[in-house]
Amino acid sequence: MAMNWTEAQIEEVVASVLKNLQKETPAMQAAYDGSQYNGKKYIGVFADMNDAIDAATAGYKAVRAMRLEEREKIIDAIRKLTRAEASVMARLGVAETKMGRVEHKTAKHILVADKTPGTADIVASVKTGDYGLTLTEMAPFGVVGSITPSTNPSETVICNSIGMIAAGNGVVFNPHPNAIATSNYAVDLVNRASAMAGGPKVLVASVVKPTLDTAQIMYKHANIRLLVCTGGPGVVRSVLSSGKKAIGAGAGNPPVIVDDTADVVKAGKDIIDGCSFDNNLPCIAEKEVFVFRNVADQLISSMLANGAYKINAEQAAKLANIVLVDVKNPKTGIVKKTVSRDCVGRDAAVLLEKIGIKVGSDIRCIICETDFDHPFVQHELMMPILPIVRVDNIDQAIDLAVKAEHGNRHTAHMHSKNIDHLTRFARAVETTIFVKNAPSYAGIGFGGEGHTTFTIAGPTGEGLTSARSFTRYRRCVMSDNFRII
Ligand code: NAD
Repeated sequence: MAMNWTEAQIEEVVASVLKNLQKETPAMQAAYDGSQYNGKKYIGVFADMNDAIDAATAGYKAVRAMRLEEREKIIDAIRKLTRAEASVMARLGVAETKMGRVEHKTAKHILVADKTPGTADIVASVKTGDYGLTLTEMAPFGVVGSITPSTNPSETVICNSIGMIAAGNGVVFNPHPNAIATSNYAVDLVNRASAMAGGPKVLVASVVKPTLDTAQIMYKHANIRLLVCTGGPGVVRSVLSSGKKAIGAGAGNPPVIVDDTADVVKAGKDIIDGCSFDNNLPCIAEKEVFVFRNVADQLISSMLANGAYKINAEQAAKLANIVLVDVKNPKTGIVKKTVSRDCVGRDAAVLLEKIGIKVGSDIRCIICETDFDHPFVQHELMMPILPIVRVDNIDQAIDLAVKAEHGNRHTAHMHSKNIDHLTRFARAVETTIFVKNAPSYAGIGFGGEGHTTFTIAGPTGEGLTSARSFTRYRRCVMSDNFRII
């Protein structure tokens, strides 16, 4: 396969993938099995997880032998290819997973290319004193096993690759089974970038058909020194009980509070912008609103002026029965309401059509007034449906918002100019990300300061992961010397 794909070749690959995806017969599904398209075989994607781990181990040895500037050259090439192929991966992601929006996925890839830290994130620290000098360096773990989600598939593969390579690690991926083609496109992109920049042909690896079994091989393999998991509660629990060092980036259910000191008109627009971004797939996106009663009508008017469509209680009940389905746990027999995979990440217009309402493409979010116990408030829907609960005061707002966040300590938002209210909510909710007076995506560096990541590790405490999160600290002590004062 050509190392530098031309735009025409990329278009040809995408056209072929999309054609196959549209047909959706089992034979065609097999034709885009995650290993190759149109005669162009993905680099670094193996049939067997053990072979993928061997390749990632060789990649790790190559990275270890490189100078930092060589690593940075590869990372630069990853950034360039990611920018160039952002819309390709966006279209592929939407076509394969049927979730999200092409323009927003394109923006997410550009964000990853621009704002994922590279080797500059790795810094040494020194302590000097009467007894000499002690140096602490951030060293690689070795080969990292990374489990990636369907919601930001190629974004997570590229973001993880940049950080993990910058830290000197190798990486093997076990991507989400519903997003293999897109995730493995990103694996191939990283390897093409490596070859372009003089690195190894296979720097990062993945498997053609990732399953729970291939994840288990990864968990148990002696070469895997760190597991990084981005996904829902089930998979985070499973890596945390693997017996290996693990970083877990799990589910959220971000609440938003709007009080009566806020710029309410702006808050309405910001909330709809954030909630509808990539059809609410980002784990940080606004999922439920608690608004002071005296500004609720004004907030709703602003939302309606910014692409929201309001449904009534009866319509909301009808929609809830479609987007949440009963799923029986095969082990316990317990039946639980679960989000329907057919509805996650779908356009607002598609969801409305399910209850017989036709709207134009200008509608990007469905809003409805509910009480606190409504399933739209309690479940992490990951679709552009936003419940709004009226509250009497800040005590009630904080109490309900903290309960709705369910102790995930992931993300929360607030629109207010009252610093006491802002501080009280931030302290009470204890989330990894807290965004004030902006759309949710400001929290990952999109229109906000700071680096980006698509692996936000709340449960294990690394926060917004970057290269340094994938390192182990090592100390070197020089006794009595090297202090120059
Ligand atoms: P998911 O939980 O369905 O899948 C995540 C990955 O785990 C997939 O690769 C899946 O195949 C695998 N998996 C699932 N159960 C497993 C098990 N028992 N053992 C091994 N592998 C297993 O996630 P999804 O639907 O793609 O993503 C949505 C969820 O992920 C949401 O809850 C969202 O909040 C969360 N998420 C969190 C972050 C974050 O940074 N904290 C980022 C993206 C998504």
